[in-house]
Amino acid sequence: MAVVGEKNVLYRREDLVAYECDGFTLCRGEARAVVFPANTEEVAAVVRLLNRENIPFIARGAGTGLSGGATPLGGEVIVSLVKMKKLLQVDFENRIAVVQPGYVNLKLTQSIAGEGYYYAPDPSSQSACTIGGNVAENAGGAHCLKYGVTTNHILGAEVVLPDGKVIRLGEDGIPDLPGYDLLGLLTGSEGTLGIITEITVRILKTPEAKQTILAYFDDVEEGSQAVSDIISAGIVPAALEMMDQTAIEAVESANFPVGHPLDVQALLLIEVDGIAAEVREQAKEIVEVCRRRNVREVKVARDEKEAAAWWANRKTGFGAMGAISPDYLVQDGVIPRSTLPEVLKKIREISQDTGLRIANIFHAGDGNLHPLILFDERKPGEKERALEAGSRCLKVCADVGGSITGEHGVGIEKKEEMRFIFTDEEIEAQLRIRDVFNSKNLLNPDKLFPKPGRCAEVKKEIKERKLAEV
Ligand SMILES: Cc1cc2nc3c(=O)[nH]c(=O)nc-3n(C[C@H](O)[C@H](O)[C@H](O)COP(=O)(O)OP(=O)(O)OC[C@H]3O[C@@H](n4cnc5c(N)ncnc54)[C@H](O)[C@@H]3O)c2cc1C
Repeated sequence: MAVVGEKNVLYRREDLVAYECDGFTLCRGEARAVVFPANTEEVAAVVRLLNRENIPFIARGAGTGLSGGATPLGGEVIVSLVKMKKLLQVDFENRIAVVQPGYVNLKLTQSIAGEGYYYAPDPSSQSACTIGGNVAENAGGAHCLKYGVTTNHILGAEVVLPDGKVIRLGEDGIPDLPGYDLLGLLTGSEGTLGIITEITVRILKTPEAKQTILAYFDDVEEGSQAVSDIISAGIVPAALEMMDQTAIEAVESANFPVGHPLDVQALLLIEVDGIAAEVREQAKEIVEVCRRRNVREVKVARDEKEAAAWWANRKTGFGAMGAISPDYLVQDGVIPRSTLPEVLKKIREISQDTGLRIANIFHAGDGNLHPLILFDERKPGEKERALEAGSRCLKVCADVGGSITGEHGVGIEKKEEMRFIFTDEEIEAQLRIRDVFNSKNLLNPDKLFPKPGRCAEVKKEIKERKLAEV
């Protein structure tokens, strides 16, 4: 309180309830307090105090994370960045913007659209999530297929280290700095290396033209093949999204229905952008590719209003699950695109084995799957079966040469699944790097990495641990 003032600290039990978890609601813990610093100096002063007193702490943006990264495990102080929400500078000449970490993602594009610019990374949560949280998670989004994920758009950052020292990383646009790429290391480190207090991002010129195409398939495999065919044709769409039948049922039952037929097996939502003539050609070619793959219907949006309606329907897809199921668990795996039909088949088998419906909404172009496991927490055993199904989906992704997360991070949820893709030695090397920055392991402790131990023993423990945690 001495640092930020009494009105910027929450410590009563009833006030802390809202901070028990992030968007991964299956795991909850109680924080010791929440503090709301107003600037870098206050963050540094709070961190120095916590470090001196050996009190663990966690940075938190909007709390939309889906893997428990901002969730307390018990007794941590949450350093909330939501009051640091200013757009500090826009430099159109050098195409950069400087923001505080609590600045909401979508606001940046809204602020610069009038000048013909935008910020490319567009997580579906962009109307709520913060750019600080995006950097910590290396967030992706529908339009990251062509433009890259957050790390490709971050040019510099100011960071408060876990001992309270302040450093700057990157050099705001100067390419190829000598020394280690610490900015790259920080991006995606899930709040375990430092608290980001200022970010310099790249902004892009709004493309001259874009077209949005919607294609309905009676066969998931044909839809999956169309995805590969589009990329093989040399087209890199700005976005290439897929939804399966269960997902279509959900989005059509929720707040933004657009009249998708409910009996198709899959739909593709594709956007191409660039120079007008090229965009027209690419849209035509995509329509042809879909026809060759026996599409039931394929159409190009008549105008921006229709395209926006299709996108709103897609972007609210996770929340739409609430319309068809009391609870759902979002998974996030990555696979080589060519394995899509095989992986979707295996996910259907997991659904049959566990008796739980699984919807699929995903960034098909870059092979980033989001199986959504539907369950009812009130029914005994369903939550545990959902967690088991989630872990099995990630194993399938790892087994075909993919990864256990594309954009939602590891957090608490997938710590043990890190062993699906890393050896003990590889995990140990990463832990040594964490220790250089976070030597007392006070910043976001017990996240991201599994406990040390032999693989076989720990794998045996996974199920028990998960059941105990929830
Ligand atoms: C409906 C829905 C849709 C989503 N869609 C997408 C999507 O398309 N793509 C995608 O990538 N993600 C998506 N997400 C996940 C989530 O929105 C992202 O991970 C986002 O980047 C989290 O931002 P946040 O501000 O909410 O961070 P939080 O949830 O508050 O924190 C996330 C992690 O970042 C750390 N952190 C936060 N701020 C800082 C900081 N300033 N310095 C250091 N560490 C920090 C926290 O400690 C935590 O580990 C979605 C979530 C929801 C609920």
